[in-house]
Amino acid sequence: MNMPDMNKMKQDCPNKQECLQLLQSILDGEATAAQKETFMKQHLQECMTCYQNYHLEVAIRGLLKQKCSNEAPEELINSIKEKVIKNLGQ
Ligand SMILES: [Zn+2]
Repeated sequence: MNMPDMNKMKQDCPNKQECLQLLQSILDGEATAAQKETFMKQHLQECMTCYQNYHLEVAIRGLLKQKCSNEAPEELINSIKEKVIKNLGQ
């Protein structure tokens, strides 16, 4: 994935809730190819909120996979969030 230009991105997502659901279904492999394409190649390039959420979700899912459990302690998730957001240049 290309690194979007942070300065040109919207700081607020107008459809945060919908985007979050779409993001989850993409990561679950339930979204259609077209949905995935539009979201990843268009929306994520212009929406800071969803860009961050996407990377957070990927990081958290990766961690849960490693731990082979469906639940991670909130503390751990919060520290991941901080790290990811920092890495994204915020
Ligand atoms: Zn969005």
